[in-house]
Amino acid sequence: MQRFALACEAIAATTKKLQKTAIVAGYLKSRSIDEAAASAIFLSGRPFPAWEETTLQVGGRSLWQIVAELSGKSEDEIAAAYRRHGDLGAVAGDVLPQLPDQGLTVLEVEHAFRQIATARGSAAKSALVRELLTHASPVEAKYIIKIMTGDLRIGLKESLVEEAIAKAYGHTLTDVQRANMLLGDIGEATRLAAENKLAEAKMRLFHPLGFMLASPIDSPAEGLSYFADATVEDKYDGIRAQAHVSEGEMKLFSRTRDEITESFPELPGALADLPHDAILDGEIVAWEYPAKAGDTQQIVDETVSDKKEETEEQATNLGRARPFTVLQQRLGRKKVSDKMLRESPVAFLVFDVLYANGELMLDLPLRERARILDAVLAAPRKAYNHRGHRGAQGSLTFDLDERSDASAAIIRAPVFRATSPEQLEELFVAAQARGNEGLMIKDLNSPYTPGKRGKSWLKMKRELATLDVVVTAVEYGHGKRIGVLSDYTFAVWDGDRLVNIGKAYSGLTDVEIAEMTKWFLEHTIEDQGFRLVVEPKIVLEVAFNNMMKSDRHDSGYALRFPRIVRLRPDKLPEDADTIERVREIYGRQQK
Ligand code: AMP
Repeated sequence: MQRFALACEAIAATTKKLQKTAIVAGYLKSRSIDEAAASAIFLSGRPFPAWEETTLQVGGRSLWQIVAELSGKSEDEIAAAYRRHGDLGAVAGDVLPQLPDQGLTVLEVEHAFRQIATARGSAAKSALVRELLTHASPVEAKYIIKIMTGDLRIGLKESLVEEAIAKAYGHTLTDVQRANMLLGDIGEATRLAAENKLAEAKMRLFHPLGFMLASPIDSPAEGLSYFADATVEDKYDGIRAQAHVSEGEMKLFSRTRDEITESFPELPGALADLPHDAILDGEIVAWEYPAKAGDTQQIVDETVSDKKEETEEQATNLGRARPFTVLQQRLGRKKVSDKMLRESPVAFLVFDVLYANGELMLDLPLRERARILDAVLAAPRKAYNHRGHRGAQGSLTFDLDERSDASAAIIRAPVFRATSPEQLEELFVAAQARGNEGLMIKDLNSPYTPGKRGKSWLKMKRELATLDVVVTAVEYGHGKRIGVLSDYTFAVWDGDRLVNIGKAYSGLTDVEIAEMTKWFLEHTIEDQGFRLVVEPKIVLEVAFNNMMKSDRHDSGYALRFPRIVRLRPDKLPEDADTIERVREIYGRQQK
């Protein structure tokens, strides 16, 4: 561990990436394979491989106390050292005494980490940490603590460790990256590199792969300028999720690579019985299921490969996405109430497959992946056999009555084709009319490139416009907004008169809503019971997906999916938008 720590000190001492990787490569090569493997994990700033869910669960406070105790210094002295270093590991390196017989191997540290992770209770864990640090030299303790707190702070990203492994054992960076990606274990990748077996790396399920990202475009023409063979999907406004499915088990990971399965208890049931192991990429969206309860809806009925186009009607038959704000209530929850499941159901709109039937699909062109995805989702599934239905062309279907008692829909995101900017524009308007954000335009010949933002996926989203509006009336909210005024009716100017144009429920923070509630209660003109007419002083900026003519409000227009972008305390009510501007936006939308 001394050599490891000294290598880290040398890495910290240079800002040049090439030098950093050269130091790591030299260090790895000088070690046994076992030690090099463990070191590669530590050098990535983790005690355990990424794919493992093991954590040490030692609180910062306990670590702090142990360092204070072993150093014989007062809490004040430790606090002063912390202010100097800003990092508990560095503090330990500074204040811990150098004693004879100190010194650990990397493998001993690895073993100790395992013991700490399995120990129950903070007292048992602290005892093991104390024992470990007692045997460590100060510089070893410095890096042990840095690893325990998850950040070495020596300017070494995992990508540099990959480069160093490639350099140390004479492989291409691509091969090393690939093995690390598949395994989620840079230690194992190191071992395979050292043994010349990188090609043997097999996909390990249940650790998230990187997500392929999209580049924005400014015009429909640009959307068709990068590649010849474009497939088009709606851009759903939800959260990206990668589903890992194997033998009845299923986990969902977010774009930040966090596991989010618990927040969506209705999805595992719907996915876990896929006939194959699979990794699917898609968007979780708050979903409005079609109204005709009891009807059987066809979910998967299109393939890209046979070039059938989705009609607008088919796309709408599946139901439609609800605004992101509805989904927001479902995020970050460990427990989801039945009421919430009923009131804010979700659907998983799947648009890609990264792994299926034991094969990694990343290098296949999207055209192939789309075909495989259709097959994976269309295959009969156990849970549906006894209560579901099969559609006319063997498509997967679900029964709306059944949906209420557990599973949500797994929906193959409908695919469209566009060969001209005009077609793209049409699809864009249709997508927004369905309540979606815009379009995704994808190159049918492109591979799946995890973690990369390239020109193979393009995103076309355009806020129709935003309006500055004046709040005229407010209502109490529902659910967790029950005691606060969170529903705002708002208006634009028609001459010197304010005419209402919409109502928005969301977009402000809890703190802002609390402040606004206080203000509205103090500035109520008329209490209508369920509704308070308020002084027209508050200006909001609202965004919306499109605008319709409607009798609902006295302006004669209504906004679809209005959402509050922000409060505009910088604006006076007189500065709000006018009905002329509303007409102009409406006219533009008709073109
Ligand atoms: P943005 O978040 O604006 O950068 O747009 C990219 C995001 O759009 C992706 O990360 C997905 O979460 C989301 N998205 C919605 N629909 C799709 C789709 N059909 N294909 C790919 N990404 C989509």
